[in-house]
Amino acid sequence: MVASYQISVEREWCKGCGICIEFCPKEVLGANPDGKVRVLNAEACTGCRWCELRCPDYAIVVGGKTFG
Ligand code: SF4
Ligand code: SF4
Repeated sequence: MVASYQISVEREWCKGCGICIEFCPKEVLGANPDGKVRVLNAEACTGCRWCELRCPDYAIVVGGKTFG
């Protein structure tokens, strides 16, 4: 069983600044061709919420662990 944090991106709000990608200590996040963030490696997320706290547009939210 793999546990991972639920990372939600509001694509309409994301402006592709890349701040969350740079701040993530676990390289969980990457950019789509349009620059908007996408989750590449959810399993590595530690739930630190740095991405959420640094996003100037409130476009990324980290929730509790899900199991699947
Ligand atoms: S910090 Fe926010 S606006 Fe910037 S790329 Fe990440 S989710 Fe998008
Ligand atoms: S919560 Fe932390 S580890 Fe997870 S994606 Fe955000 S910055 Fe990266």
